[in-house]
Amino acid sequence: MSLAAPLSPAYSAVHQRSISDRETYWAEQAARIEWDTPFSQVCDTSNPPFARWFVGGRTNLCHNAVDRHARDTPGAQALIWVSTETHQERIYSFAELLREVERMAAILQAQGVGQGDRVLVYMPMVPEAIFAMLACVRIGAIHSVVFGGFASGSLASRIDDAQPKLVVSADAGSRGGKVVPYKPLLDEAIRLAQHKPASVLMVDRGLAPMETVPGRDLDYAALREQHLDAKVPVVWLESTAPSYTLYTSGTTGKPKGVQRDTGGYAVALAASMEQIYAGKPGEVYFSTSDIGWVVGHSYIVYGPLLHGMATLVYEGLPTRPDAAIWWQLVERFKVTVMFSAPTAVRVLKKADPEALKRHDLSSLRALFLAGEPLDEPTATWISAALGKPIIDNYWQTETGWPILGLANGVDAQTSKFGSPGVPMPGYSVKLFDEASGEELLGGNQKGVVCVEYPLPPGCMQTIWQDDARFVKTYWSSIPGRQVYSTFDWGIRDADGYHFILGRTDDVINVAGHRLGTREIEEAIASHPNVAEVAVVGVADSLKGQVAMAFAVAKDSSRLDDEAACKALEAEIMKLVDGNLGAVARPARVRFVNLLPKTRSGKLLRRAIQAVCEGRDPGDLTTIDDPSSLETIRQMVQAPR
Ligand code: ATP
Ligand code: MG
Repeated sequence: MSLAAPLSPAYSAVHQRSISDRETYWAEQAARIEWDTPFSQVCDTSNPPFARWFVGGRTNLCHNAVDRHARDTPGAQALIWVSTETHQERIYSFAELLREVERMAAILQAQGVGQGDRVLVYMPMVPEAIFAMLACVRIGAIHSVVFGGFASGSLASRIDDAQPKLVVSADAGSRGGKVVPYKPLLDEAIRLAQHKPASVLMVDRGLAPMETVPGRDLDYAALREQHLDAKVPVVWLESTAPSYTLYTSGTTGKPKGVQRDTGGYAVALAASMEQIYAGKPGEVYFSTSDIGWVVGHSYIVYGPLLHGMATLVYEGLPTRPDAAIWWQLVERFKVTVMFSAPTAVRVLKKADPEALKRHDLSSLRALFLAGEPLDEPTATWISAALGKPIIDNYWQTETGWPILGLANGVDAQTSKFGSPGVPMPGYSVKLFDEASGEELLGGNQKGVVCVEYPLPPGCMQTIWQDDARFVKTYWSSIPGRQVYSTFDWGIRDADGYHFILGRTDDVINVAGHRLGTREIEEAIASHPNVAEVAVVGVADSLKGQVAMAFAVAKDSSRLDDEAACKALEAEIMKLVDGNLGAVARPARVRFVNLLPKTRSGKLLRRAIQAVCEGRDPGDLTTIDDPSSLETIRQMVQAPR
C-alpha cells in the first residue's frame, strides 16, 4: 500500500462535475444500464428532501443484472456458490441463472404476487435466496430480506412492517457445522405478527425436519418442477418504483426500514463497480457479507451481476475448516475483487497468519473493507499478510453504496491509513459543528459528516411507510440547511481525505475534552496482545464522563490470573497515555472473551454504555450473542 499523497486533480475534477453538473454527469452514468423507456428528467428536486432519479424512465433491475448478460454472454459464470457448511457447490451461468429466476418468478406469480406486493426473504446463504430476490424485482414485487436466523420477535416486527403477501424461507441455516432450524422461528414469528402472509415458500435443504401448515406452506422443489420451462417477461418499472426495503443494523437504536428505488440504484451500482471497485465483466467478485445486509444486497447480488461479473456466494465461517478458506476460494475461482468487513478481519487476526500465505492470490487486486472504522493495526496486519492494497469504504445501509472511498476506475489515488478516502461521485460531503450548526470549512476540524441535498442516485428514497420519520431523522439536524446527517463524526485533512471518528453518540466528554471512542480504541488496539476493543463513555460525577474499555486479548491464557490482568491493564493505560494523553486514559480496561455485537458484526457500544451506567440497554433485537452483554453487566456490578 502506498502512502499519503494529495488527492489527484483528475478525480477532484470528476467529483466536482458530479455535483456542479449533476444532470449531465448522471445522464452519462445512466447509459451503463438498459432502459425500456428513456427518462425525461435526471433528477426531480421539486420536493426536498425527497429526490426522484431518472423520472419517466422505465427499467428493471433483473433485466440489467441477468437477462442482458444471458443474451450477450449466456455461458459466462454468474453465480458461484460454495458451502463449507453442507459441503456443496453449484455454479450457474447467466443463462442458467435466468432460467432459475424465471422459475422462481413463475412460482411467485402463481401465488398471486405482483407489482408492489412485498415478499419477505428469510434465508441462509443459498442460491435460492438470490433467485428469490431477482425474481421479485423482475416482476416488480418489493423484497424485504431479513437476516437468516434472526429471532422470532425481530422477524415478527419486520413482517408487520413489510406486510408481505409471501415469505420465502428454508428449513434451516448452518453455522460452524451446527444446524440452525429456521422454520420454527418463522412459524413463531408469524404467530406473533399481526399480519399473516398468505403463503410461505419453503426451500427444503434436508437439514432439519419441518412441520407444514396446510394451505399456507408450499414446497419450492415441487413447484419448481411444475415451472421448469417458465417464461416470465420482466415488468418494466418506473425508475422511481421501490425495489426493496432493508433495515439498518440497529447499532444505535431501533432499526430503520430503508426504501430503495429501481433506476437510481441500478445506475449508481453499475457506476460504482467500475469507478470504485475497478471490476471487469467476466471476472469474479467475492463479498464475504450476507444477503441480509446492505453489502450483500449491493455487492453480493446486484452490483457484480449488473456489471456482468460472477458473484461468489459463500456459506460458511472464515475460519472453518481453517483460516485459509477465503484465500483458497480466491485462488480456485480467480477472484479479482474482494469485499469484507474489519470485524471479519479481526477474526482472522486471532488465527494462524500462515494460513493467509498458503494460496496463490495473484488474481486478487484489492481487498475492500467497510462497515466499521478500520483501525490502523488491523489494516496494517491484513495488508502485510496478503501483500495487497486494503481499501476502506465508508457508507451506510441508507446510502446503498460508498460515500467515501477511492475512485479506482478514474485514476490511481493512493490511500491514507485510517481514512476511507474522499467523497464518491454525487456526494457533496460537508462537516458541521454539532453545537453551533456551522459548516466547518477548515482542515482538521471535527464535525458531523453530512451530505448536501440531493443524495445521489441509489440512496434511500424514504423510510418505508414513514416519510415524516425520514425527514425528521435524517434532514433536521442542521437548522436552516438542507443536509442529510450520517450521525457519524469526522474530520477532513488538507488533502481532502476524510477520517471517520465514530458515531456522534460515541463522543466522550472527559472534563470538557471531546474524544472519539475510535481514537482511544485505536490506541488500545495497537497493543500486541489486543485483538479487539470497545470503548464507551460512562457518566462520572467528577469528570462528566470517563472512558471505559472492554478488550478481547489475543492470548487470554493468563487472564484468569488477577495480577496478569492488572499488569496488562496497566500496560494498555500507559499506551493510551503515550498516544493520546492521560485525559483519554480509560478508567478501567477489562478483559472479556466476546464483545456485544449486532448480527452484522458491529460493536454495540450504546448497549455496553447503558449497562455500565446501570440503564436499560434498549432495543436489543439485533444482538448476536446476548451472553456477551450479560458478562459485562456482571463485571461492572461486581465490586472492583
Ligand atoms: P443503525 O443505523 O440502526 O444504528 P448502523 O448505523 O450500524 O445501525 P449500518 O447502515 O449497517 O447500520 O452501518 C452504517 C454505519 O457503520 C455508519 O454510519 C458508520 O457509523 C459505520 N461505518 C461503516 N463503514 C465505516 C467505515 N469505513 N469507517 C467507519 N465507520 C463506518
Ligand atoms: Mg446508522
